[in-house]
Formats: sequence, structure tokens, C-alpha cells
Amino acid sequence: MPLSEFTLIERFFNQQKVKKNTTTLGIGDDCALLSVPAGYELAVTTDTMVENVHFFAGSDPYQLGHKILAVNLSDLASMGANPFSVTLALTLPSIDENWLQAFAEGFFALAERHSVDLIGGDTTSGPLTLTVQALGLVTSGLALKRSTAKPGDTICVTGYLGVAGLGLKIKQGYHCKQPEAALKRFNQPEPQVEIGQALVGIANACIDISDGLTGDIGHILQQSRVGACLDWEALPLSQAVKAYIEDTGDWAMPLTAGDDYELCFTVSPDKIKALNIPHTKIGVIESLPGLRLNKSGNIHPLEAKSFEHFT
Ligand code: ADP
Ligand code: MG
Repeated sequence: MPLSEFTLIERFFNQQKVKKNTTTLGIGDDCALLSVPAGYELAVTTDTMVENVHFFAGSDPYQLGHKILAVNLSDLASMGANPFSVTLALTLPSIDENWLQAFAEGFFALAERHSVDLIGGDTTSGPLTLTVQALGLVTSGLALKRSTAKPGDTICVTGYLGVAGLGLKIKQGYHCKQPEAALKRFNQPEPQVEIGQALVGIANACIDISDGLTGDIGHILQQSRVGACLDWEALPLSQAVKAYIEDTGDWAMPLTAGDDYELCFTVSPDKIKALNIPHTKIGVIESLPGLRLNKSGNIHPLEAKSFEHFT
């Protein structure tokens, strides 16, 4: 006999050991109850992943459990918030216990690493759709925003760019000698949670790279009413991404590919010395609107556009 909705929740999602003392009431009632410590703001975000839109049908459930949480924690990271608790809404075409077991393992492995409580959710039947809402804490007034970049700021990124983009190319049939790192990044990105919190009080603006560098920087430029020039030669590229560009000539891939979940942030020159996290300087914020790219000494205008679902 298939599991009932309630046995399913009990068996797979009400099993977590970590319980914060700020979680006054967890899974089981109509709402969860949280007490927010004085002096903090709640940062709230939600992200959905739909089968055949955000991930391929038949994707590994452990990696899906990891990724749906990771993309939400990445939003908290980009605001400098400390993950607090999460809710999980699952829409499932059927009850597949092996799938649910692996999904829950991937989800809770990451949740435990970041000490987040799963405090509730919803479970429905329909086309496979995963939604997490994540709550984080940030000291009142100190959240990192998109709207506060200043002309003269240095633009920095964490990690490498285009790694998940290469992973997607590999999934679409591109042959790469060492595909493991790129596929891992695409399937199981790591949210830069500690780095985001370390940027509080240092960075002027911050965003996580989910849709692609140029589109995501475009949000900072638009909301801060500034422009920017990026230096192509400065972009942090892994050996595999460099080999891909040499092979295909597709030098724009690391600028436009999404899913890396690295952080892109801007820092005023007087604070750059205080940056004690690994980063690469890739450009500068300018008062002239628009996005430009310096490639081998030539300045190219760039379109600061992101992936959009309805266009
Ligand atoms: P309601 O009908 O009041 O919305 P539900 O029957 O949907 O409540 O859920 C019962 C309890 O289980 C609630 O506390 C809800 O937050 C929790 N819950 C439901 N689905 C999930 C899930 N996928 N993960 C975690 N908690 C869940
Ligand atoms: Mg419900």
C-alpha cells in the first residue's frame, strides 16, 4: 500500500536531530513558531525547481535534495544572512520511497552542515516540483543589497566562473576529458554561506551568480544606478573551462552561464585590504551606465541580461 501523506512526512522529513532553541514549534502543527533574537532582521527567500525546466527528468534525487536547499541558502549568503530555518514544499507525481529517501539524505546532509532546521512544508501530488523557503538572520541594518554599489568600487567574485556552465554543456553532449568537477558543480553547487557573512560590513553590494555573471551584475547596476567595466583577462577560469574555450571559441560562456552560485560583490577601495576571503578582482563600478568588457585592450559593450522564464 502506498504511504499516506502524513506517514511520508513523518518518515522522511521529521527526522532531523538539529533543533535550534529559537525553533519554538517545528513540524506538525498548522504553522511553525520561531523566536527572532533582538537586534536581527529575518532574511526571507524562496526558490522553486521544476522538472524539465530547472533540471532534467531522471536527475539524481540526492543531488536534487542538495540543490534545492543550496540555491536557497545561496540567496541568504548573498545578503550576508546566517541560515536559520527552512520550509519544503514538494509536489510529487507519485510516492517512490527510494527516491524520497535519497532526496531527504541530500537535503539533510546540507541542512546539517549549515545547522538549519526544517520547520514545515507542504506535500502535494502533481508534476515534480521542489520549493524551499529559507529564513536567515542578519544584524539589523547590515544586510548586503544589490542597490548600494558605488562608482569606484572594485568588482570581485568568489571561486571560478563557468564551471556549472561547462557541466551543462557536458550534459548536452560536449565531450570533456575531465568532466567530474563541472558536473558536480552543476548538480550539487555549494552555497557560499560563510563568505557571505564575512562580507557584511565590507562589501557595498552583493549578488549570487545564479543566472550568469553579466545578467546578475546587471541587477546590481540597475538597482544601484551605476555602470561597470569587466576585465575578460581577469576572469577566474578553471583549466577545464579554459580548454573548453580554446576548443570551441565560446569565450562568452563564463560571462553568461548560470548555476555557479558563487558570490559577486563590490568593495570600495579603502576596504579592499579588509577582505580576508578568497576572491578575484574582475572589474570596476563606473558612473557611466551600462556594462562593458575590456578584452585584449578593446572595450566591448555587453548586454546585462539574465535568463527569463516568460520571454
Ligand atoms: P496543513 O494541511 O495545515 O497545511 P499539512 O497537512 O500540509 O498541514 O502538513 C502537516 C505538517 O507537516 C505541517 O506542520 C507542515 O508544515 C508539515 N509538512 C508537510 N509537508 C512537509 C514537507 N515536505 N517537509 C516538511 N514538513 C512538511
Ligand atoms: Mg498543507
